[in-house]
Amino acid sequence: MGRTTEEPLPPPAIVGVLDTCPECGNHDMRVRVVDGLSVHECGLCEARFGDRRALTSLADAEEARLQGVDRAVWPLVRALQVLPGLCVRKSAGGDVDVRTLPLVELGATSPEALHQLENLAKSLRLSAGALRLHWIVEVEYQHHLAFVLKPRHPGGAVSLGEARDARIDLEVLGKHLARDTQLAWWRHAGDAAHGPSAPGGGGHGGSGRGSGHAGGSRNG
Ligand SMILES: [Zn+2]
Repeated sequence: MGRTTEEPLPPPAIVGVLDTCPECGNHDMRVRVVDGLSVHECGLCEARFGDRRALTSLADAEEARLQGVDRAVWPLVRALQVLPGLCVRKSAGGDVDVRTLPLVELGATSPEALHQLENLAKSLRLSAGALRLHWIVEVEYQHHLAFVLKPRHPGGAVSLGEARDARIDLEVLGKHLARDTQLAWWRHAGDAAHGPSAPGGGGHGGSGRGSGHAGGSRNG
């Protein structure tokens, strides 16, 4: 590599002070601290600069607020609400202080829902090793047919450990679902009936068709 006296500068590392907006040249830069990391925000064009995780976290929190969804469950809701045939009817992020568990209630809007639920069950199965709790999709009837994604719980009091584990799982599950819904096996699940499955056998992997994930409906 030809070293010259005027070696190009590395990309602007946002450490310390950023006093001019790289986007618009404005000098009114503000600093916000997100998860202990600094994010520089332009007072004029609202462009943000800083650690990618902090920027994503900030953007997620704002999206969640605009959607009226708990920040903790938002990545999960975001991944699920765009799936064809399903809608998100209700969600809760769970609360460690009052010991409640998170949930996402899905409704079916078209027959496509069945493929999506199968994929969701498959994704849960694939994620099971990374999760602390056993997550299920429970079929319930609440004015209409509902599919509730939640950690399995026998009822009664939720322990502090379970409430905490559920919050940790939410983050993992949100990431896994955001990834899985983009993968070929998920996106082409409904196509299998119309032609040969894609090379690589991603179409219908496994024989354990979501067993164990579709918890039966439960009274009360
Ligand atoms: Zn700016």
